[in-house]
Amino acid sequence: MNIPFIDLKSQYYRIDSRVREGLDRVLAHGAYVMGPEIAELENELASFCGAKHALACSSGTDALLLALMARNTGPGDAVLTTPFTFCATAEVIALLGATPVFVDIDPVTFNIDPDRLKQAIQALRSADPDVYPLPSQAKAAVAPGKGPHAPSSMPYAPHAPLVPKGLISVDLFGLPCDYDAINPILEEEGLWLLVDAAQSFGSSYKGISPCALGDTACTSFFPAKPLGCYGDGGMCFTNDTRLHQVLESLRVHGQGKNRYDNVRLGLNARMDTMQAAVLLAKMSIFPEEIELRNSVAGTYNDLLQEARDITVPSFFRDRQSAWAQYSVLARDRKHRRAVFDILQENNIPWSVYYPLPLHLQDVFSYLGYSSGDFPVSEEMSERIFSLPMHPYLEQSNQEKVARAVIEGSRR
Ligand SMILES: *Cc1c(COP(=O)(O)O)cnc(C)c1O
Repeated sequence: MNIPFIDLKSQYYRIDSRVREGLDRVLAHGAYVMGPEIAELENELASFCGAKHALACSSGTDALLLALMARNTGPGDAVLTTPFTFCATAEVIALLGATPVFVDIDPVTFNIDPDRLKQAIQALRSADPDVYPLPSQAKAAVAPGKGPHAPSSMPYAPHAPLVPKGLISVDLFGLPCDYDAINPILEEEGLWLLVDAAQSFGSSYKGISPCALGDTACTSFFPAKPLGCYGDGGMCFTNDTRLHQVLESLRVHGQGKNRYDNVRLGLNARMDTMQAAVLLAKMSIFPEEIELRNSVAGTYNDLLQEARDITVPSFFRDRQSAWAQYSVLARDRKHRRAVFDILQENNIPWSVYYPLPLHLQDVFSYLGYSSGDFPVSEEMSERIFSLPMHPYLEQSNQEKVARAVIEGSRR
């Protein structure tokens, strides 16, 4: 029997009757779009996170896009974020004609480094790339030919200085960022915080969910995330009632008082009622699953002590990760390759998140960043790899995985 990287089947067998009952209810009432399960899910998840409002939508990417649109993000705006994340985080910034400004990560948490963040803001304020690497501004205002906003169709000032507006923080692999270090920097600079909690739903920072921490937070219910549905889905969270009203409008074509009153440009970004029914069923076991993921991570850390030059993830007293991924570091690319060879011989799956930081991706080449601009992200992308992680991973299978990693690490 092969060890799965994630195991959605075991989870389904635990809750199959609840999922089927939920789906049967939707089939019976027939409100496939914006049925009663949507509001039920929004209420349940808002109270689970301690956020005032929750807004269900079509994906994690659309949740981020809605949150940026609600702030009128557009050309000339600099939005700071990490280059060590899934492409969606920076993609949404660029799609709106704004400019992603990358900030390097901390090598222990893999999350944005607050000291570098401060430097990047200073560099933007003084338009001085000697303070911190910046996108080459003349080219950066609009992605030429890379999105729907061709320069000719969009009002923009290519030589105007970029104005920092906010930060999209990413709680990578489920571990919340150091928000007590980040927030004072943003407050001092008058910048908003959008938490990309796509991987960290179910985590906590000093007892608080990251979904309740930013001005807005977004999560994803892609099947492989800690809380996944059976298709695409996402959610925005905010404590700001006015912002929530704008998000509600943006989710349905920027509607105003009714369906045929349109007050702004929006999207069709609703969540399917069936996905809400699936998520409601999964919530019944979700807190327990987070505990199980934590204990799987702890067991891995113990088992991997015998590995040579493998750095295991840290546990933090002030934070609990949702363990979307269990990621370790090899010594270098060659060492990692040796581990992969043994994993492959033993039919054990692994993944690399992320093999190429975003500033080196073709799609963002127009920003003019170079190799060496974000050395920690670049080094991590050569050393990192993730092992099978899910709540139902048995100790015997973890031992098999660890044995292979240990053997590979000693080659
Ligand atoms: C998965 C993910 C997203 C996008 O979510 P989708 O639901 O797949 O659109 C955004 N940011 C991060 C960090 C993610 O891991």
